[in-house]
Amino acid sequence: MSEFEKLYQKHEKRLDDSQHLLRAYKSAIYHERWKKRNINLNELKGYKGLKEVPFTSANDLRIAWENHSVEDLILTETVGFWYTTSGSMGNKKWIPWTYNDYKLAGVSTAHILMNTLTPTDRVLTIVLPPPFISGSSPFKLLENTGNLGTPVEVLAFSPEYVQDGFGLLLKRTPTAIIGTPSITLRMADEVAINTPKILKARAEMEKSMKLRVAAFATKLKKIYPKHIFKDMKYGFFGGESLDPFRKAIEDKWGLEAFDIYAFTEGFGGGYECKEHNGMHFPCHHAIVEIISDKELEKEENDPEYHPDAILATEAEKGLTGELVLTDFKEAMPMIRYRVRDAVKVIANEDCACGEDSIRLKIIGRTDSVINLGIIRLSAIIFDQLLRKEFKNGKVKLWEVFVSREKYKPKITLTVEPEFTNNEEEFKKELFESLYGFDLFQRGYDNGLFVFDEIKIVSELKHEVYGQGKSRLVRYHQNFFEEVKM
Ligand SMILES: [Zn+2]
Repeated sequence: MSEFEKLYQKHEKRLDDSQHLLRAYKSAIYHERWKKRNINLNELKGYKGLKEVPFTSANDLRIAWENHSVEDLILTETVGFWYTTSGSMGNKKWIPWTYNDYKLAGVSTAHILMNTLTPTDRVLTIVLPPPFISGSSPFKLLENTGNLGTPVEVLAFSPEYVQDGFGLLLKRTPTAIIGTPSITLRMADEVAINTPKILKARAEMEKSMKLRVAAFATKLKKIYPKHIFKDMKYGFFGGESLDPFRKAIEDKWGLEAFDIYAFTEGFGGGYECKEHNGMHFPCHHAIVEIISDKELEKEENDPEYHPDAILATEAEKGLTGELVLTDFKEAMPMIRYRVRDAVKVIANEDCACGEDSIRLKIIGRTDSVINLGIIRLSAIIFDQLLRKEFKNGKVKLWEVFVSREKYKPKITLTVEPEFTNNEEEFKKELFESLYGFDLFQRGYDNGLFVFDEIKIVSELKHEVYGQGKSRLVRYHQNFFEEVKM
């Protein structure tokens, strides 16, 4: 039996010994929905029992949050930390983690990173501050690598602050970076702009001829982070798909890039090893299941259908489907949580790195979102915003086309109006309506995506898929390909 299978045996025992489902049932997230299905929770045993309970979606979390007190939702008396996710529907999800939850997640991450890092490494983290979960990661990194007896040095900045931190970074150069791919690439541009300025200022202050020459030299050629951070070796990237950015980041930063998978709602992360072929999902405190494409299709044709899911230890190589996670968190365990990420099983046998857990690749989304990398906007919200009452026209059909401009996602919105009395004014109204959605606004204002233009056409032909469904969001092939810079 492989180590991974042994782990899943332990998980199964843990489900029963801790009466995990019975405990979770007390939370308002699960109570009503499970009750409706007439499940006898006392009889549910092991994985067979787990399969009896319904899946949980982000929408279920939202509904429970809106209708219940915190006390009805959580299973512990106290909480350690409240994290947020900027949900694609616009309303924030607040996720409670206890101190133990926080500790367990931190230890696992430190173990994984120390497979690659050494105690002499200096790690630059560019992550969103609290209440985003990433905001605690720099501290957790020091604490937990320290607990392992190998503390690493951490240079932590939020994306807004990294420019101000430049002076430090030039003097104390990092050897590894943790962040999101698109922000790391954007920083490459900022390095090109800031470095000559800072070197010049320092040259004047220190009256150094060497620095003055260096400042002058950086003006002459395009400067990349790899010219400045010469000791940079590794990068760990999460929050969006690494693949389109991988080569550009490796080229500009002169590092080896690793993909990381994590989400705020629960345990159950993945990481890429030296093989760079899919991410391992060892998940010491979570159970991975996959709903196959076939089952997803059945569900799409019959919303009442309860799709079957395959346990990670039984998933065959090549299987594609949707990732489902059940975790052992204390305050708010996720039971059969559908993350809405589509995955492919890359391997399920021993890896050259020594790890034998399943390897998955994230291949897309299974819900209707406009995927702009770190920002995901719900197509349902888009629809509502575009179908408001406007003075200068009315939307009949719309389509969003996502492509890429340099490393940024670019949105082109095409609208077929029912009528319009002034196209230019109508376009303005449409944009203002989208801009009123806070997630759109933040992404737009911070330059996380490019809003190309609104095209008004007399006839919009939707791409049709499945059993005659219209595709509202289309992607240019270049969105998935490597970015060129
Ligand atoms: Zn491996």
